[in-house]
Amino acid sequence: MVRKTTGTRKTFKKAKAKRHPRSVVQRKNTTLPISVFGNMMKQFNLAASKLNLDSKILDFIKVPRRSTIVNLPVMMDDGSFKMFTGFRVQHSIARGPAKGGIRYHPDVNLDEVQALASWMTWKSAVVNIPFGGGKGGIICDPNKLTKGELERLTRRYVSDMSDLFGSEKDIPAPDVGSGPNVMAWFMDTYSMKMNQSVPHSVTGKPLVLGGSQGRVEATGRGVMFCVREAAKHMGMHLDRCTASVQGFGNVGSIAAKLLHDLGVKITHISDVNGAIHNPKGIDIQKLIDFVIKNKTILGFSGIEEINPSKVLTAKVDILIPAALENQITAKNAKSIKCKIIAEGANGPTTPEADEILDKKGIVVIPDILANAGGVTVSYFEWVQNRIGYFWTEEEVNRRLEEKMVASYKDVQTVADENKVSLRIAAYMLAISRVVEVVQLRGIYA
Ligand code: NAD
Repeated sequence: MVRKTTGTRKTFKKAKAKRHPRSVVQRKNTTLPISVFGNMMKQFNLAASKLNLDSKILDFIKVPRRSTIVNLPVMMDDGSFKMFTGFRVQHSIARGPAKGGIRYHPDVNLDEVQALASWMTWKSAVVNIPFGGGKGGIICDPNKLTKGELERLTRRYVSDMSDLFGSEKDIPAPDVGSGPNVMAWFMDTYSMKMNQSVPHSVTGKPLVLGGSQGRVEATGRGVMFCVREAAKHMGMHLDRCTASVQGFGNVGSIAAKLLHDLGVKITHISDVNGAIHNPKGIDIQKLIDFVIKNKTILGFSGIEEINPSKVLTAKVDILIPAALENQITAKNAKSIKCKIIAEGANGPTTPEADEILDKKGIVVIPDILANAGGVTVSYFEWVQNRIGYFWTEEEVNRRLEEKMVASYKDVQTVADENKVSLRIAAYMLAISRVVEVVQLRGIYA
């Protein structure tokens, strides 16, 4: 069953409240959700107010173009079937096909997916690749499903949404809770529907199915390039810097590893299970090997276990939030002591916290720039699939570095010229690029 909604979110208010445990704050006697889409909209409005643009065009580009909800029956291993809810939001196709991952997480909700889809539009525009923005999600806990159940859930989701997807329409990728094997099932299901093999219908695939060298490390590598450029700009020497990393999954662990390789001492790390600290620096490669084996950072040798909140407020030079949204809020922003925050995660900082950090002079490299390495190499994967020729890992990393450094410089230039934060500058750049295309295409109204 497919239910389509365009532009209205009221209908989902009740369901949202139930599905929002992660983004909920207590206020007096009521529990109000922090709207992730609302946060994105505040950032958008702030940047748009600095640009002299037609308000009708802004009204058009800021709302998601199409939001789809599917209710999916899935056969469980015990022979029963269970219902799951899935979302796909196409925020914009102005600059190219919608592009963005699929999140498998118990707290997924339409508000969050709409925000993540919008960020994909701005992110693709910041790094100037020919994609729009999209995002998907399924409310589920992938750790509680067997491999067979996960495969059937993925195939049913792709099947029910297959009209939306396509290599020139909407190209998914992995996100939290999904990975290359889910993308392999995606590619196979979509290909069966089309009666031909369509590898470029999805990115983040395993290498043997047409994945790209360097895709797994791309987001963390992009974070490292941004931190390196910011440090250069600020006259900081990375081999004298310390860092703290929240989240030790794909993005956090790779960013930590690559910064460690540049001489940064990583002193604090957290994951969903807890947090660890070593003032002398944590051996990142050994911790990665430990986590592969034990699925947690806790129990690693030579560290002290600490309260996870300390990872954000530690006295370090660089902070990398690489877990989830709404982690740096008005409540803890005052206690943050670093010089640079590089947002590996999407939406880790609320607009209220942003204001506080700005006043404190902390440089925030915004998500739509800092973690754009992932979508950049996804673009490279799509290009390689289309030309049918594959680049070496060195070639991919070289092109990624070129893109990330150029994008960082573009954003820094807008920030310096307009005396605004890197976040506002990144939005200004992205909005102008989307608006330019929309003006040329015209609005089919
Ligand atoms: P992942 O599932 O590989 O890792 C997430 C990590 O966060 C895990 O270590 C988990 O234990 C930890 N975590 C979860 N809740 C936590 C909490 N409350 N406190 C501390 N740690 C917590 O996911 P990922 O792919 O690394 O994605 C992380 C973030 O980066 C997400 O916001 C995602 O949207 C964003 N992102 C990912 C990519 C990518 O290519 N993977 C690209 C762009 C943005």
